Amino acid sequence: MIDQPQIELTPPDISAYRHGNTGIDYVTTLDSGQPGPHAVINALVHGNELCGAIAIDALFHMGVRPRRGRLTLCLANVAAYQAFDPKAPYASRFMEEDFNRLWTAEVLDSRRDTIDLQRARQLRPLYDGADVLLDLHSMTNDGEPLILSGRTERARTLARALGHPAWIVADSGHAAGRRLIDYDRFAGEPGSPTAILVECGQHWRAETAVVAVEASLRFLLALGMVDPDLAAPHLRPRHGVPRVVVVSDAVTAETDTFTFAAPFHGLESLAAGTLIATDGDRRVVAPYDGCILIMPARRVRQGQTAVRLGRVED
Ligand SMILES: [Zn+2]
Repeated sequence: MIDQPQIELTPPDISAYRHGNTGIDYVTTLDSGQPGPHAVINALVHGNELCGAIAIDALFHMGVRPRRGRLTLCLANVAAYQAFDPKAPYASRFMEEDFNRLWTAEVLDSRRDTIDLQRARQLRPLYDGADVLLDLHSMTNDGEPLILSGRTERARTLARALGHPAWIVADSGHAAGRRLIDYDRFAGEPGSPTAILVECGQHWRAETAVVAVEASLRFLLALGMVDPDLAAPHLRPRHGVPRVVVVSDAVTAETDTFTFAAPFHGLESLAAGTLIATDGDRRVVAPYDGCILIMPARRVRQGQTAVRLGRVED
């Protein structure tokens, strides 16, 4: 893996969005005046994932208006975004702790105090009032974009309705803390509020921002909330039917010498017994045929998740 990736994207100036109309900085709600869901398009949960800011900026510039319900455009961890430095692009994922590991009442109500948690608390009322949420992210892997649908069937259905990205990964999040899409409001059963996360591509590739804009419009189309003529110029012909990969295992590094057997980008399909990695004396092999690698980590230290494994659902 290269340590100095090329930065093809330019972080947009978001200062014009600071004073929105919601009383929360960098949050703007557009109201159709018609009945319908409250949809949220959320960007910058991770400050160095530029594609989401580019998508929100593009939606404002194209004059997007909801045809029904309300649409909120949210720039989440703005402090981390403003710390982005192309010379150290991995450093501004968050300020003090990962904004996407905070989403339980226990953590949000705790006495812990970090810049990221303060911002999470500011945004909590917004998410508490959302019926459907699209969380725009990007990834280290230079592979195909994918949708993380978490644990619920309703999120899987929404992910399929987008049509692209075609890879849908049904997973249960991270042991290190709860993601926003796994927040009780969205992942509780029974319930109807629904959230999906799109990994639009490698963090700083130009194509990743194209996918982020398109995913935002596909999300609004799936909800019947955007004029199809407004969206059409931004939709690419996309091939491949949506496929759901259900996560079966997480591979945790037992040593600091965990090394992948090949430069995997993720979504490779391996035959049973194929060597995935060596970890000290341990050989990590694919446990079954059609084993899909999900988001292999760039650097792995002992105790961390190196890669997750899954199988395509029939
Ligand atoms: Zn992210």
